Amino acid sequence: MPAPQCVSCHAARAALRRPRSGQALCGACFCTAFEAEVLHTVLAGRLLPPGAVVAVGASGGKDSTVLAHVLRELAPRLGVSLRLVAVDEGISGYRDAALAAVRRQAARWDLPLTVVAYADLFGGWTMDAVARSTAGSGRSRACCTFCGVLRRRALEEGARLVGATHIVTGHNADDMAETVLMNFLRGDAGRLARGGGLGSRGEGGALPRCRPLQLASQKEVVLYAHFRRLDYFSEECVYAPEAFRGHARHLLKLLEAARPSAALDLVHSAERLALAPAARPPPPGACSRCGALASRALCQLSLVTASRRRHI
Ligand code: SF4
Repeated sequence: MPAPQCVSCHAARAALRRPRSGQALCGACFCTAFEAEVLHTVLAGRLLPPGAVVAVGASGGKDSTVLAHVLRELAPRLGVSLRLVAVDEGISGYRDAALAAVRRQAARWDLPLTVVAYADLFGGWTMDAVARSTAGSGRSRACCTFCGVLRRRALEEGARLVGATHIVTGHNADDMAETVLMNFLRGDAGRLARGGGLGSRGEGGALPRCRPLQLASQKEVVLYAHFRRLDYFSEECVYAPEAFRGHARHLLKLLEAARPSAALDLVHSAERLALAPAARPPPPGACSRCGALASRALCQLSLVTASRRRHI
């Protein structure tokens, strides 16, 4: 049976059915609709004001590649300028190849690129060194927890280095739904309370951060990359199989089989979540070691580096 006509242009054959709406669209109309939806997310959420210098967290993977490409298309309408900032965690056999993809993107799209490395920022520590130090100790499953904390700080440092006023990351709806599930499974009320919305406004001197793809499903991010013929790095990090996130991802797939809108429903649930006063975390203060925003005496980075020093 021939493919139906695109319901938008009525000229080309449809190349896909949108997972969420079931709309039959050709590749060109799907990409136009996808970009319009990201534009709406940015404008409705007032995420990037005109004149903003935006640091795009670039990993070479599909999400940040799609984000950089879409924002480059939208930049003239938004009145923003873009800088790519990539973080080198020091993961041999993985990050070098991913960084090569980021360098190709920067050259092709004529975007300035800055790479910041854990080794330079955190006293010579790389993720490989952290993993070696925890191997066989029962703590190795926590690699991604440490890496997440270090990466957040590294991206902030890189963004400041390039004079950015805002940071954007490529988290999509599936990523956010997994995070909501993980926070529920860990009973982490503090993160649940902070996790809603499309980003943070930049409390405690941190740069404002947002996630323009937060309402886009992973399937549509992949489809956009396919139809725009984007070159990205698709291998999984060597430490990812140990991550707790994998269980949340598996659970989300099961939920989506029964309820296709499960990922977005979870994202919206987190936005509307209201904690009882007794469960609300105290307002953040300043880290006693480095002065960064912290919900306890030490910020997450100071806790991580202190923990590394104790165990190594
Ligand atoms: Fe870091 Fe974990 Fe991501 Fe690898 S999978 S880059 S260790 S957060």
